[in-house]
Amino acid sequence: MAFEYAPAPESRSIVDIASSYGLFINGTFTDPRSGGSRKTVNPATEEVLAEVAEAGESDVDDAVRAARQAYDTVWGPMRGADRAKYLFRIARIIQERSRELAVLESIDNGKPIKESRDVDLPLVAAHFFYYAGWADKLSHAGFGSDPKPLGVAGQVIPWNFPLLMLAWKIAPALAAGNTVVLKPAETTPLTALAFASICQQADLPPGVVNIVTGGGATGAALVAHPDVDKVAFTGSTDVGRAIARTVAGTRKRLTLELGGKAANIVFDDAPVDQAVEGIVNGIFFNQGHVCCAGSRLLVQESIVDELLDRLKRRMATLRVGDPLDKNTDIGAINSAAQLEKIRALSAAGEQEGAQRWSPPCELPARGFWFAPTLFTGVSQAHRIAREEIFGPVLSVLTFRTPAEAVEKANNTPYGLSAGIWTEKGSRILAIADKLRAGVVWANTFNKFDPTSPFGGYKESGYGREGGRHGLEAYLAH
Ligand code: NDP
Repeated sequence: MAFEYAPAPESRSIVDIASSYGLFINGTFTDPRSGGSRKTVNPATEEVLAEVAEAGESDVDDAVRAARQAYDTVWGPMRGADRAKYLFRIARIIQERSRELAVLESIDNGKPIKESRDVDLPLVAAHFFYYAGWADKLSHAGFGSDPKPLGVAGQVIPWNFPLLMLAWKIAPALAAGNTVVLKPAETTPLTALAFASICQQADLPPGVVNIVTGGGATGAALVAHPDVDKVAFTGSTDVGRAIARTVAGTRKRLTLELGGKAANIVFDDAPVDQAVEGIVNGIFFNQGHVCCAGSRLLVQESIVDELLDRLKRRMATLRVGDPLDKNTDIGAINSAAQLEKIRALSAAGEQEGAQRWSPPCELPARGFWFAPTLFTGVSQAHRIAREEIFGPVLSVLTFRTPAEAVEKANNTPYGLSAGIWTEKGSRILAIADKLRAGVVWANTFNKFDPTSPFGGYKESGYGREGGRHGLEAYLAH
């Protein structure tokens, strides 16, 4: 007999959302000169949460000037040990306000509270703590005896991990002595604006962090600004290409963290129940809105039936619904546009002849939702095996030999991550060595740590974030 879960909603009263927000420039919230604004909505209910300012070119220019001034007069000359104190302070405030930030993230993004609370927020704080520790040790980071900051960093981030991507970008930049202008994604600006208030709370000198909200045009203006020394971008490969074109031929440094189509490879000697958990975590974590998601499952042919049986049973237990419910496994799709993209690619999967399966699952009437979905009978030529769906959709392929697994895993324009499931350590090492992916997980998936570098090959971009390596992008050496 199956027992129903009672609702276990997290209270949203801890979060105070204003009806409108300005831009955070030079330590204060200001109205945009252009006067433009955009609405941000709760993707689980379609309720409008707030009007958020849209920065035009002149606003971006103000933000870059503020960042330059702060770099020249305060942050650049400051001793690393003093910069570290600010970063430690920010990290502690994030911990203190973590429940509020987690609820806000789930409301604006649609991700389940158990993920924003137990994954995003602890990692955000850990990132600031980690890079705070480097701020006074840069001469020991392996980039020469006296590495210097670059200056002003222009940073553009996506909507899938709004606050975590902010932390990945801002923490190493500040630790290395740069100042920043950051543009959050238009559908998820609220936690970046809450972070602006944390900068105020931490008495961070004005201009060290500036947040310019807006859409793609705001991002493009920031990237093109002549006084930006370094551009850091996470998002789609198409926009990454456009940014690389803008930056080409200038003195700006560039790092790109782009898309992925990771292979999660399960060998016949793998612990099947653990592999099933890893597969589920690999593709259904964060609604599959994960650049390193294990979206291509490669299963050794001899175990495919048993594995799919168990996987389907496990998928039938996933709870889709209210992101603020502590029992929810899969929340809302971040936007109507993203839902449309997931629907279109899934329809293409059926048209091209793959078999589609989802467990019985009741979706809420309002908001943007997509049931966890599995495609079998997928060939390497199918669009669902090649293109990033960025949703809770898994494509299953099979292989017979390790060599075939490697061949298929690498048969993608991307190269961000991969997973290997086997009980043999020697096989893990042999296969990992042959995979063209920046991160390879063994008998686990989607594990992140601030000490560990993350980044891609091929169309997944270049540069590394996290760890000692993550400092390199922000230092002249
Ligand atoms: P984008 O790459 O468009 O968005 C990422 C960020 O770049 C956002 O802040 C966006 O602004 C900004 N941006 C958009 N156009 C420009 C530009 N010309 N110059 C500078 N910045 C720009 O991703 P989407 O949100 O459109 O998602 C589309 C697809 O991209 C997804 O379906 C998914 O496949 C992939 N994606 C991959 C991510 C990853 O981590 N690898 C993350 C997000 C998406 P704004 O959102 O405000 O328009």
